[in-house]
Amino acid sequence: MLSLYSLIHLFSNLNLVKITLILQIAIPTPLYTHFDYLPPAGIETNLLCPGMRVRVPFGRTNRTYVGMLLGTLDDSTTSSRKLKSALNIIDFPYPVLPADVLDLLKWASQYYHHPIGEVIATALPKILNQGKADLLAETLEGKLTVEWVITTEGRLIEPTSLRKNQQRQALLLSLFQQHTLLTENEMVVDLPKPKDVLRQLQKKGWIERQVAKPKASLTSPLPLNSAQQQAVDRVGAHFNQFYPCLLDGVTGSGKTEVYLQIIQQVLAQGQQALILVPEINLTPQMVNRFKQRFSVPIAVFHSKLNDQERLQAWLWAREGKAPIVIGTRSAVWTPLQRPGLLVVDEEHDPSYKQQDHFRYSARDIAVIRAKRAQVPILLGSATPSLDSLYNVHQRRYQHLILPERAGAAVHPKYHIVDLRSQPPSQGSLSPQLKQAILARLAHQQQVLLFINRRGYAPVLLCYQCGWVANCTHCDARLIYHEATRELLCHHCGTTRPLDQECPACHHTKVHLIGQGTERVEETLVKTFPQAKILRIDSDSTRNKYAMRTMLEQIHAGEADILVGTQMLAKGHHFPKVTLVGVLNLDSGLYSSDFRASERTAQLLVQVAGRAGRAEEPGEVIIQTHYPAHPLLTRLIHHGYGAFAEAALTERQQTEFPPYTRLALLRAEAMEAKKATEFLWLAKQQAQPLIQGAVTLWGPVAAPMEKRGDWFRAQLLLQAIHREALHRLLAQWLPTLPAASAKLRWSLDVDPQELL
Ligand code: ADP
Ligand code: ZN
Ligand code: ZN
Repeated sequence: MLSLYSLIHLFSNLNLVKITLILQIAIPTPLYTHFDYLPPAGIETNLLCPGMRVRVPFGRTNRTYVGMLLGTLDDSTTSSRKLKSALNIIDFPYPVLPADVLDLLKWASQYYHHPIGEVIATALPKILNQGKADLLAETLEGKLTVEWVITTEGRLIEPTSLRKNQQRQALLLSLFQQHTLLTENEMVVDLPKPKDVLRQLQKKGWIERQVAKPKASLTSPLPLNSAQQQAVDRVGAHFNQFYPCLLDGVTGSGKTEVYLQIIQQVLAQGQQALILVPEINLTPQMVNRFKQRFSVPIAVFHSKLNDQERLQAWLWAREGKAPIVIGTRSAVWTPLQRPGLLVVDEEHDPSYKQQDHFRYSARDIAVIRAKRAQVPILLGSATPSLDSLYNVHQRRYQHLILPERAGAAVHPKYHIVDLRSQPPSQGSLSPQLKQAILARLAHQQQVLLFINRRGYAPVLLCYQCGWVANCTHCDARLIYHEATRELLCHHCGTTRPLDQECPACHHTKVHLIGQGTERVEETLVKTFPQAKILRIDSDSTRNKYAMRTMLEQIHAGEADILVGTQMLAKGHHFPKVTLVGVLNLDSGLYSSDFRASERTAQLLVQVAGRAGRAEEPGEVIIQTHYPAHPLLTRLIHHGYGAFAEAALTERQQTEFPPYTRLALLRAEAMEAKKATEFLWLAKQQAQPLIQGAVTLWGPVAAPMEKRGDWFRAQLLLQAIHREALHRLLAQWLPTLPAASAKLRWSLDVDPQELL
């Protein structure tokens, strides 16, 4: 028989073990933790699962946020804590984010020491972040593949002959006349109500809809050379397991063909392939080659998609309706229903690293993702990063080498022009280069000139007193742009009119010194009046269709000389280019950053690789003041591989990555010195937490200390082993004061540059 006492005891125990289900929710705030909530009333809690979006009240004002359910916890100890209830579960009963991607994001949040809520927000399409419902992929059927083509009749209409109130029709019609075929995705952004305009043109019989691509236009796989075949076979023998490969082949050696043929096998198995590229808007050729090879839906994430289209593409990938997914950096987070292969093209490209907020490397994440998904990954490059070559040395990556150019093309020949022996009055073109250009023009061949600076002239100088036009917000010079007739700061965007006299000594003549793309273009127009010249930089390609139009002109042979920035070095095929001129390489040869020589070598080889891709041999002329620079001579005489080996040895000796691990704590403040002070304090806080070999260097002012009115400083952490570094970061970062309006800080794990 129970005594009253034991009954009371039993009840109170029951009360104690009463289980509360707690939702652990990530909220997009700069805080390093997730937050606990009670489930909304009346919900079937056994159906809850991670990856569902949850609306929650947050903060003192109880503003509503869209959070992500990370997990649930049975808790009997929190009954005394007052937890808020979540408002509703947006994705019920199906999570919007599959478990594998959510786990990858959690991993990334820990590795990069970035708040989980912000990490998740980076990975989701904007519409989902806003808490709007996840439209079912079925309702979007057919949308991605709709194409429109111009009719014969449409070709004959002169767009300018249309009436004033039909300007949108005229615009669209002229686009069709230039491009023949456009997908809806390509049109919708710049044009208000594009669908209406399309219908108007269709009614007049000027364009017509074309739903499925005719099979006949698909290209067939090329017969592979033996190196290509070996690469395809080796990857093919390792499907459904983690098999990381560095596909190391010179430009034009047929890497893309290797991707295509491996992907063909992946598709045959009913799996999906995710392909990352550095730049999608500038390299439509890459996407076109995929479209021309495969008749399956391809989800292409390019920056010109609107939010709705982005969501569509994302859902198509998640539902497995798009067997091929192509995108830039952030596409690495795209959910895939049946992942079979990951490809990172031009894996050395710095654009894979996000340089603000959540500073992740999409290439490195892709490798982790492939490992977790147990699928092969191909890292392709003509100029592999030292990181990846190191992984080959460590036998972590397979080394698949394509030593020769595919087809008939041969390697280009290099010539160095010593600028020291040239009169400074000649401008950007040495007599040797001029001569070589003339020879190409005479043979109707194309010339590509590379200069790594846009604008007209990088310096405005007074000879009288030495005054230089500087940005008032940055420690930087203002660049003169002829097109806008303004001085522009490339760091903060400040502009002002060109000075007519020196503001310091009032001398009436100031001088524009140095060369930018605009000035080179001007020189070319004067020197080669017969030639058609195209300038390609971020100014001349700002308009959405400009790049595409220029590429088409180049391929049609309607341009003779192309002058441009590194945009031209990225992935383009210019079969008619037989001469490449590098106008000035010098700034890259002497830079304080430890990766500068790697970047310069890559850029040089990539630019040079544009020459002579077809039957004509290519020639590369490099103008420099440092003709004996070891980087240049090694690269030219022994190739990129030899350069990379020497550079790796140097990294080992100087204890830089990949031989050590780095993290950079950056701080910036509105007041000079405050950023450095903050970092000194941070350093003090770190000292007692250090276990193992972690060294803190600095703090020092950033090489460009002032930028956009913020004063910047940095503290470098260096470790032999990743574990010691990450243990320190995990304990240390949460102790640092939160950012304020006057001081902000950020951490960069595996920084790509220390500038
Ligand atoms: P990469 O991606 O390494 O720059 P691509 O795959 O674009 O090289 O190939 C360069 C050129 O050579 C392309 O025009 C391609 O069609 C052609 N090509 C590739 N593989 C072969 C092959 N096995 N036989 C003939 N031509 C090829
Ligand atoms: Zn002056
Ligand atoms: Zn500025």
